[in-house]
Amino acid sequence: MNILVTGGAGYVGSVCAEILITHGHAVFVFDNLSVGYRRAVPQSAVFFEGDLADRQALDRLFAAHQIEAVMHFAAFALVEESVRKPSAYYVNNVANSIQLLDAMVRHRVKKLIFSSSAAIYGEPKIAPIPEEHQAAPINPYGHTKLTFERILEDCGAATGLQYACLRYFNAAGATRERGEDHRPETHLIPILLQVALGQRPNFPINGTDYPTHDGTCIRDFVHVFDIAEAHVLALDQLERISGHVFNIGSNRGHSVREALETARRVTGHPIPVVEASRRPGDPAILVASSQKTERVLGWRPQFSSLSTIVESAWAWKQKFPFGYGEDRQAAP
Ligand code: UDP
Repeated sequence: MNILVTGGAGYVGSVCAEILITHGHAVFVFDNLSVGYRRAVPQSAVFFEGDLADRQALDRLFAAHQIEAVMHFAAFALVEESVRKPSAYYVNNVANSIQLLDAMVRHRVKKLIFSSSAAIYGEPKIAPIPEEHQAAPINPYGHTKLTFERILEDCGAATGLQYACLRYFNAAGATRERGEDHRPETHLIPILLQVALGQRPNFPINGTDYPTHDGTCIRDFVHVFDIAEAHVLALDQLERISGHVFNIGSNRGHSVREALETARRVTGHPIPVVEASRRPGDPAILVASSQKTERVLGWRPQFSSLSTIVESAWAWKQKFPFGYGEDRQAAP
């Protein structure tokens, strides 16, 4: 199938592009490189540098290639930044996503997999969280993802679009060639590994007074390879499952301190910490129930134990200590 991957130069999008190619699909990546990297795009994908706000660029792409399905990853995805810059998040994650939908309608492309988020659940009342849990985001990022889910519901009914929303919990880990590299880095596992590699002096724990067993936030880490496989399964079965939302998580929660201990064990580095204050917008506990995803899609996460995730991220970090940056170089 000819598949358009928006945001295919970003972390999850680029890994998904890689996995789609291994499944025999032809991949077309559209990315404005505002936070992604050209080097993250697989060599055999066709790359278009462009912005979803650019209607003509989208029209050119759809007119030139027989795109049969879209996987939509392009979005801003930092909770704390969304609290500071909500309008930028609404423009990029909602308004620009509508541009994409409209272009799909103009060019009669009928299949879409949307990258949604656990952030739509807000401060959940239970863990693990099933999909039918109330959606009540507590930050602008979560609001933008929920808003677009609702838009898809309406547009699906109006246009016959087939779609599925995959609500990722904490994407983590790496394949051999692709991993997590944000500038500036704000994510837990990459920061732990930067300390282990001597690129930062210490690891700040963002809040030690949460109502959890060790006072730190609890998250559900899911390997980016397993996330990509969920996309492939959803696309294969889209006709049957259209309109559904699916949690993509491991069914297990780990605290920030547990992630720290795992990183210490995997890297053999003491990783010194400083106890910092809470980060705005962070819920205490986010753990998925992925039972529906396993039952309906037949999804089986293979690499989502915390040890496997950290080991794969560490292998990538050691191979590419500078990630995708200009100074990217493989370690000897
Ligand atoms: N975190 C932390 N120190 C850091 C980076 C992250 O304590 O240097 C915490 C963060 O506050 C949250 C958890 O780790 O509780 C996961 O954060 P991340 O940004 O990786 O993912 P998010 O849950 O925001 O999507």
